[in-house]
Amino acid sequence: MKVLFFGPNGSGKGTQGAIVKEKLKIPHIETGVIFRDNISRGTNLGKEAKGYIDRGELVPDSITIPMILDRIKQKDCVNGWLLDGFPRNLTQAQELDKALKKEGIKLDIVIEIMLERQIAKNRIMGRRLCVNDNNHPNNIFIDAIKPDGNRCRVCGGELITRADDQDEKAIDKRHNIYYDAKTGTMAAINYFKELSVKNKTPRIIELDGKPGVKEVSEDLLKKLL
Ligand code: AMP
Repeated sequence: MKVLFFGPNGSGKGTQGAIVKEKLKIPHIETGVIFRDNISRGTNLGKEAKGYIDRGELVPDSITIPMILDRIKQKDCVNGWLLDGFPRNLTQAQELDKALKKEGIKLDIVIEIMLERQIAKNRIMGRRLCVNDNNHPNNIFIDAIKPDGNRCRVCGGELITRADDQDEKAIDKRHNIYYDAKTGTMAAINYFKELSVKNKTPRIIELDGKPGVKEVSEDLLKKLL
């Protein structure tokens, strides 16, 4: 199963993505995680990407597109993949579509979590990361996943914030890119929605991101299966 997962920063996309990964037994490929991993390991890719990420800008397509097209060719992706954080603009969507067509690969599902911009922003600023597991959800502004004091609510691990989560200007920049229906992420989503209307594939799954994590997961699972 080949799946794309869209949602603005702060919509709970990472959390819901982990559920899809479990259900469909496919690797969860998160562009942001790949970049951050490269930054912490001090690789050339990490050094190139860091400035853009710290400013809340997209890493250039010339770096990101080959990185992802290469990643989905790896062995663990033979039965499918869940792309999260890619494509993030119209060019990336077109290039992905082109590459898949060239390889004869069919995109099965596109999932979109829909959420108002202001709510998404509050959620980002409240987000806390568990040092033990990136998929342990903690957010000081969401009752259902409030940390246990200042420790991870799942495993009791230490919690940290991402520098770019606390930078309002960078958040606004990221959202400007996401909600841009001309060339940004909304344009990428619409690109696949138009393909879906034209070709009856991929299947589009729209989720309302406003309710709590549990409700969104239930809606997701119901629509996925
Ligand atoms: P995320 O963890 O998805 O919020 O991504 C963190 C940062 O990584 C973004 O703000 C961008 O700077 C960069 N990034 C992630 N995905 C992409 C992408 N598809 N294209 C370009 N830059 C990206």
